[in-house]
Amino acid sequence: MLIRYILGRPTPPSKPQVLKSGKVSTNLRADTTAALYVKTCDDQGQDVDQTYLEHLQQRDQEAWVFGYDMWADDTLTNSALYDAQHYQKAIAKSSLLPPKNGFACEMCHWRIYCESDPMASDIDGWLNVEEAKEPSTIRIKYGRTSKEIKRDRRGFVISPSEMRSFAKCQRLWAIEYRWRKRQVSEGKKAVARIRGSLTHHLLEMLAKDQSLTSHDLRIELGIRAIEMHENSQIDSEAFNELVENDGLEEMAERARSMFDLAMRDVVEIVESERRRVMKMPGSKKWLHGIPDMVVRLTNGQLAIIEYKTTSKTKNLPALADKYRTNPAVHLYAALVRHGQLTF
Ligand code: SF4
Repeated sequence: MLIRYILGRPTPPSKPQVLKSGKVSTNLRADTTAALYVKTCDDQGQDVDQTYLEHLQQRDQEAWVFGYDMWADDTLTNSALYDAQHYQKAIAKSSLLPPKNGFACEMCHWRIYCESDPMASDIDGWLNVEEAKEPSTIRIKYGRTSKEIKRDRRGFVISPSEMRSFAKCQRLWAIEYRWRKRQVSEGKKAVARIRGSLTHHLLEMLAKDQSLTSHDLRIELGIRAIEMHENSQIDSEAFNELVENDGLEEMAERARSMFDLAMRDVVEIVESERRRVMKMPGSKKWLHGIPDMVVRLTNGQLAIIEYKTTSKTKNLPALADKYRTNPAVHLYAALVRHGQLTF
């Protein structure tokens, strides 16, 4: 099955600098776009530097949105299922206070908490940490009726992200999946996560109505951002950061470009953001997951579209390469091939 990663950076590009000499900078490392460079030159009444413009046009092709197609064959899918079953057993047997993985702390957002409270004895008192939402209900068709898959037994029903968390560090899994804690981020620190979730929201809207323009998406973003601010979901600092430098316009453009790239050679959107579930082979346990989109290609085959947004790197091709071995999409392929939709 074809897996198509679509990566996007929903951050606004930097405006080219105007140097002390009055010239518009032609810094090769500037995180800007060809359009913004031309506009700045226009505003300054200067001619564009053609060589620099060509550099930016070349850079634009993969600096903001990037698509990466890969193939999940039966071997990869089956081996991901094999690994998932082993993780599932390990999660089911995990101890009440699972061990930390100190080798993974460097890149972990719980680092200061584990450092100051290594036995997690005061986890309910951790600062800026709140209870996460309860896991959503999973209902499946059962004969002529339906049944709910219970989620209270650890390891009984797992998702690729739960597996990733356990594989990285068992304590991390316990913090996020057993004790269900999440960090509350405020101000500018919250903006990357908000941009990611707003972009995903726009992509979901586009899957329902492909005719939406960047302008329509921009209007939706404006309404959403104001609502979030009024409901105190984001503070003023985060709100200002979101709208600064045409942030909402850029996010809308990015979502539209990501969607257009995702739809290359696609004739039909089969599913968008629908949870799937499957019984693990030879077991009574379950795997569940939500592929961003399942589509049908012009050759009649199904494909999975997986969107990723980032604010950490400008090198999207390198990031795409990192996702190449991520088993989540192989498990999604198994869910599409062998699983069923939930409701
Ligand atoms: S959760 Fe695990 S990886 Fe993260 S800081 Fe704690 S011990 Fe380290």
